[in-house]
Amino acid sequence: MKSLLDFYRIFDLAYGTGIIDKYESLMEMQYWFEGKIREYQEEKLKAIVTHAYNNVEYYHTLFDRIGIKPADIRHREDLEKIPLISREDLQNNSRIFMSKDISVRKVFKMHTSGTTGIALQHVLDREAWAWLKAISLRNWSWAGWNFTDKVGLMTVAGSSSQQKGNFKNKIWLNVQNLVPIEIMHMDEAIIRENLRKIEKYRITHLRGYPSGIYSMALFIQKLDIKMEMKSVMTTAEVLYPYQRKVIEDVFGCRVFDAYGTHDGCVSSGECERHKGLHLHFEPSIVQIVDPAGRSVPNGREGDVVATALFNYAMPLIRYKVNDRATMSKEPCSCGRNTPLIKHILGRSSEIFRLPNGRIFNGLSMPLEDYNSIEFFQIVHAEPDRIDINIIGKNEMEEDLQKDIKDIQRLITFHAGEGMRVNINLVEKMEYSRGGKFRYVISKVNYDKI
Ligand SMILES: [Zn+2]
Repeated sequence: MKSLLDFYRIFDLAYGTGIIDKYESLMEMQYWFEGKIREYQEEKLKAIVTHAYNNVEYYHTLFDRIGIKPADIRHREDLEKIPLISREDLQNNSRIFMSKDISVRKVFKMHTSGTTGIALQHVLDREAWAWLKAISLRNWSWAGWNFTDKVGLMTVAGSSSQQKGNFKNKIWLNVQNLVPIEIMHMDEAIIRENLRKIEKYRITHLRGYPSGIYSMALFIQKLDIKMEMKSVMTTAEVLYPYQRKVIEDVFGCRVFDAYGTHDGCVSSGECERHKGLHLHFEPSIVQIVDPAGRSVPNGREGDVVATALFNYAMPLIRYKVNDRATMSKEPCSCGRNTPLIKHILGRSSEIFRLPNGRIFNGLSMPLEDYNSIEFFQIVHAEPDRIDINIIGKNEMEEDLQKDIKDIQRLITFHAGEGMRVNINLVEKMEYSRGGKFRYVISKVNYDKI
């Protein structure tokens, strides 16, 4: 397709989705003042809360039990009256979160795979899906993408249905100007093949997991090749500053990081100023909360909680998405007044609780500073055991042995008394079932400690 704009116009005509109309309004809404953003969110909030009370078993029972009525939820702050729901609540009984008028709604069923590997059934109606599609286009526009650009999707084999290679998926990617590029196994031949593909299809933007794009960038660096891209868009994992640096150097462009959840409850991305991640305020109200569910001030770390405003098929109100984040105290200088995330601190499951009472934050261990290490992974394997899996750089064998001793000392020091630390040199890293690479993995059930 020459321009994606033509494709969506046809798509909108055929399915009544209005993606392009939505996109055009979103491009204006991003410059709304804070007061107008609040007004918009609170209008949507009142509507979804009323709908949820009238049509969703879980909320009806809950509101009656705690003695609140939909009319009590008028402002964003009022959300604190509603208890949090967790991923486990949905896993155990997703049916009670579905609207009883679901049969007359045009619904997409989505399955998202999580860190636990348990598939979670999530239902999205067509209108909500179309809004989320338009929002992702706005997010891409911040990276300088436009409707005629081709995007290389850096994929890890088996990571999603897109990679299964079935005919329908191939067409779906093709019409959207998306070109899959396999980056799971890399050697010089594969890298050269990827580079040929990028040239052949005139790909101007790359998009994918930071770990994958980073390792491809390292290979390209070794081959001493420069690749000029308009942007690299990263998502789904924490992006480290050292990865950003290498990627920007190799591809001669800026990296635009994004953070969101598969279900569309949270969606955010960097603008051209790179001051943090702009939260898209239209699909959800996002709060950063303490363990009691109260909002914390900007600048303080807390759990990410979202209230989705579009999805009437399966309303999620006060949904704890399992990530931790800090909001910025300062607005961005670009003129967009949406809330700004300063840091994503990763999932709470990446923070280990040790039997000696210590809290061990794997993400804060500076292992990327060791030059002899290509990849690392920190695993809380047993309550009293932490494994560090390492892939070393071949040409730095001697330094590697020295660094390993150092890392052993560092981790033992931070883990504290009674903890065993194993360093394993491995050939391959462990990926989650969804194909996501995690630097930090916990296999321990903390309820039993
Ligand atoms: Zn900005």
